[in-house]
Amino acid sequence: MEISCSVCTENIGALQAATCHYCGNKFHQPKVDAKQVNCGRIMSLGEMLAIAYICHNCLKETEE
Ligand SMILES: [Zn+2]
Ligand SMILES: [Zn+2]
Repeated sequence: MEISCSVCTENIGALQAATCHYCGNKFHQPKVDAKQVNCGRIMSLGEMLAIAYICHNCLKETEE
């Protein structure tokens, strides 16, 4: 099954797909130790000690 990235619109391999915490769209998953394309980032949710994936579309909105 092919998944297209909500940020760059390119195809995402199943192992690279992450779901944005805010908008629920799929995007390229950022990996710290790999120089791969990423269209978002990992953000920690302080109190819950959990991590969430945030796509670039939503990052732009939260920076303003
Ligand atoms: Zn992408
Ligand atoms: Zn998003």
